[in-house]
Amino acid sequence: MPFYWDPTIILIFIGLAISGFASMYVQSTYSKYSGVKSKRGYTASDVCREILNVSQLQNVRLEGIRGNLTDHYNSQDNVLRLSDTTRNSTSVAAIGVAAHEAGHAMQDRDNYGPLRLRSALVPVTNFGQTAAFPILLLGLFMGGSDILINIGLLLFSLTLLFQLVTLPVEFDASRRAIRVLEEQNLLTQEELPQAKKVLNAAALTYVTAAIASFLSVLRLFLLFGGGRRRR
Ligand SMILES: [Zn+2]
Repeated sequence: MPFYWDPTIILIFIGLAISGFASMYVQSTYSKYSGVKSKRGYTASDVCREILNVSQLQNVRLEGIRGNLTDHYNSQDNVLRLSDTTRNSTSVAAIGVAAHEAGHAMQDRDNYGPLRLRSALVPVTNFGQTAAFPILLLGLFMGGSDILINIGLLLFSLTLLFQLVTLPVEFDASRRAIRVLEEQNLLTQEELPQAKKVLNAAALTYVTAAIASFLSVLRLFLLFGGGRRRR
């Protein structure tokens, strides 16, 4: 294949640029509201335990985990892990993050459809990520086998599908978080919109990841799909 300027590479750069912007935005928003201490004086860990208890999730264990923003809920182990930086903080940002993770536990309790679909897609997506490139390459190697190329493109698209399904899961967890923080009076009326800002910023990174993924899939389709590839 002779060297040529591939203009579709611009799609990758656009994806990188918006992801970089989102990452900077979430960092700055998080650090801003990490400095805002909640007036109630509860730690993120206190708030999280309280939310789990009032949500009939007393059986979910609350544990610590090393690192920064490594907070997550694990449905298999029935455990919610809060990072060192989140756990003992009384900041609006940390409380927002902890409540968001509790939101995932509530989704699990309710058998929330998108969460189930997302879990089911994990192995499929992993397979797609491993197999897509070799199959696409094989298709190109075999004189442009349309079947193999299309299978390769389809496997690449699985990552995009996974990221699209992630969006409602993340937005819904934040919605649940804000609702319960308000209902249980765990943040003041002034602090609620601040926690919301932190969670919206975090959600933005999922949106930009999906856009970046869409752009890279689009690029592959432009290059290899629909008989447009160069032979
Ligand atoms: Zn989440």
